[in-house]
Amino acid sequence: MALDRHTGENSLLFIKSEQLFDWARAHSLWYLAFGIACCSLEGLIGASGPRFDFDRMGVFFRGVPRQADVMLVAGTVNYKMAEVVERLYNQMPEPRYVVSIGACANTGGPFREYPNVYLGVDEIIPVDVYIPGCPPRPESVQYAFLQLREKIYAQTPERLKERENARR
Ligand code: SF4
Repeated sequence: MALDRHTGENSLLFIKSEQLFDWARAHSLWYLAFGIACCSLEGLIGASGPRFDFDRMGVFFRGVPRQADVMLVAGTVNYKMAEVVERLYNQMPEPRYVVSIGACANTGGPFREYPNVYLGVDEIIPVDVYIPGCPPRPESVQYAFLQLREKIYAQTPERLKERENARR
């Protein structure tokens, strides 16, 4: 990072540790390699391939939930899969984030009439960013990560406030 972009003419930059951690966190979002249905192939695997090149954004996949920051839910969440989604989410360390990819994960999509389908993954775990589409384009998945960065930055004042309150 070119520091002078942030410091102007001054050669020193003073930031609080929370700001530094959130900056690092926002630029190294590792997601869990996990997909349920067609959205994972169309949107997710396409986005991480050489054409769209996720790596340049600091976004990499991990095979283990304990090393992942982001869960991408891509596909229809039925009762059977819901158990798996919940268990993997619980194995991820805090702070953890969830991106819901496509109509099925957002609302049940074309399968919403089926009695064993959840009408959105947010019925079982909290979702930070929703991506519309059936399937979404890989660009939308990348845009979702940019939105997630903004969300992490927006949480910094909250964390600073918590630290101040803990001191009192
Ligand atoms: S939203 Fe469309 S592409 Fe994605 S999992 Fe559902 S049916 Fe497949």
